[in-house]
Amino acid sequence: MLLRVRSSLQFFSFKDWNHERTRNDTKYDHRHALNLMKQFFSLLLIVFVLSSPLAAQKRNGSAAAAAPKYGNTDGVTAAQLKDHLTFIASDELEGRDTPSRGLDIAAMYIAQHLKGLGLTPAGDEGTYFQKVPLRRAKVDIENTRLNLNGQTFAYGQDFLTSLVNANVSGAAVVFAGNGWVIKSKNVNPYQGIDVKDKVVVVVNNLPKGVTGADLKGPIGGDWMSPAYYAQTNGAKAVINFATFSTLVNWEGTRWNQSDKGGVEFGENASTIKIPVITVSPRAIASLFQGEKFSAANLFNKSMAGDPIESFDLKPTKRVNATVAVKTENIHTQNVVGILEGSDPVLKNEYVAVGAHYDHVGMNPFAAGEDKIWNGADDDGSGTVAVLSIAEAMAKGARPKRSMLFIWHAGEEKGLWGSEYFADHPTVPITSIITELNIDMIGRYQNPGDENVQNKQLPKQGEIFLIGSRMMSTELGELSDGVNKNFLNLSFNFKYDDPNDPEQFFYRSDHFNYAKKGVPIIFYMDGSHADYHQVTDSIEKINFESMEKVTRTILATGWELANRPTRPKVDKPLPASVISN
Ligand SMILES: [Zn+2]
Repeated sequence: MLLRVRSSLQFFSFKDWNHERTRNDTKYDHRHALNLMKQFFSLLLIVFVLSSPLAAQKRNGSAAAAAPKYGNTDGVTAAQLKDHLTFIASDELEGRDTPSRGLDIAAMYIAQHLKGLGLTPAGDEGTYFQKVPLRRAKVDIENTRLNLNGQTFAYGQDFLTSLVNANVSGAAVVFAGNGWVIKSKNVNPYQGIDVKDKVVVVVNNLPKGVTGADLKGPIGGDWMSPAYYAQTNGAKAVINFATFSTLVNWEGTRWNQSDKGGVEFGENASTIKIPVITVSPRAIASLFQGEKFSAANLFNKSMAGDPIESFDLKPTKRVNATVAVKTENIHTQNVVGILEGSDPVLKNEYVAVGAHYDHVGMNPFAAGEDKIWNGADDDGSGTVAVLSIAEAMAKGARPKRSMLFIWHAGEEKGLWGSEYFADHPTVPITSIITELNIDMIGRYQNPGDENVQNKQLPKQGEIFLIGSRMMSTELGELSDGVNKNFLNLSFNFKYDDPNDPEQFFYRSDHFNYAKKGVPIIFYMDGSHADYHQVTDSIEKINFESMEKVTRTILATGWELANRPTRPKVDKPLPASVISN
């Protein structure tokens, strides 16, 4: 699930999240390359076994079993979910970042299974992969330089920078405190100074008494970040004092900017086009030499939350900076397969069942032993649930409508894969009668677990649903009806509201389908202590509870695929929700 979807806050929350990841492990790459090879060969073995005659016999055997009420629900088992997740959530897949080789290997794993099951490829050019175009930007170190007050500093050593091409020549310098404007708190450090054509220097931390929760509404309204204010008012660049957290994460940030690179999709590129440069204590001290306050003095005051005045540095102080960024076009992929329906007419309509198979990756500089965010629950659980449903349905009786199984990439980056598919669907979007989205269904309350965050999880035998009645009354009734006649789980609707403070409705792939008028149901366990932590790992997954939920989703998909008519959309999403 996406950490936070409000686009105005994205640069802020992603940055903070990255800042939680730190430190060095030189053995890292070698060890993982070896494990990756081992894991890859076991994948080949799995594919071989799947496509062998013996496996085919077994498949036919289970297909011949009596057709249960909602299709081959028994075909989904805890053991099978665990088998798949053992691969998908393994360290060898390196946290399935978008894009990454770990994600590509996960895609290959899914596609090879779909092939073994005989599903029809529904990606590009007869493959299971739908390419999603991306851009990668890296700092071009050779051509990036910073000169403060006549002294030249080296990228990586004394400064880091955001990924925007820029040339700042002989700009004057103005200090603007913490740099944040928050109208509701009467915070505005720009009174009495003019930033136009200057470089704005800030100690970038939220002012005393202000938290992220105070940043209400879109940026530029009630609040402005330092970079937003600077750009809007014609400044040439922002220079940040390094904070404690910047210094702790310095190597990781450098790695992100110049080795790994930043990745962009579609129009989601940063709206800040002036460089935001973070400089070392040594460099900032030299810039403030001979000013009325030293850099150390300003930093200490700002950190203590004491009032600091904004002021122009001496007119002789000048900044020259060149930031060069190398950009390349790359791609990732959604994985899509179709199980063709049995009815000659209805098979042209689809029930989509989807999850996101990406997670947030790894950081070789992370503090602590564990450098890999395995994403066993988020969304390894959904990934393997969709795979298990595809497997069970392929081996069982065919539903009348077709089933479209889709694994989205880039969800954690901002719902990229589903946005791309919704804009470039490989079947007509109007032929998708419902999308069932599975994002985090592996975690449930454990008796005796005293962790406060984990108490938010559903109980065993319970699951959170969002959206089932939001657009279609019929869909909601069908969903409840199937559940009542089947495993009778406790459906919990406490987050089923676009205005819920957690904003879950906007935080996973179903939102991009709903925006196109496709009714959706989102199944999830909400949040927990391991959400987006390196500790979201397989041993914490409750496969028995997950099996029940997965079977219920299969049954719902089966019923949708077999009803004579598709669920009517009687409550289209309001424009205010679509544009959120
Ligand atoms: Zn997530």
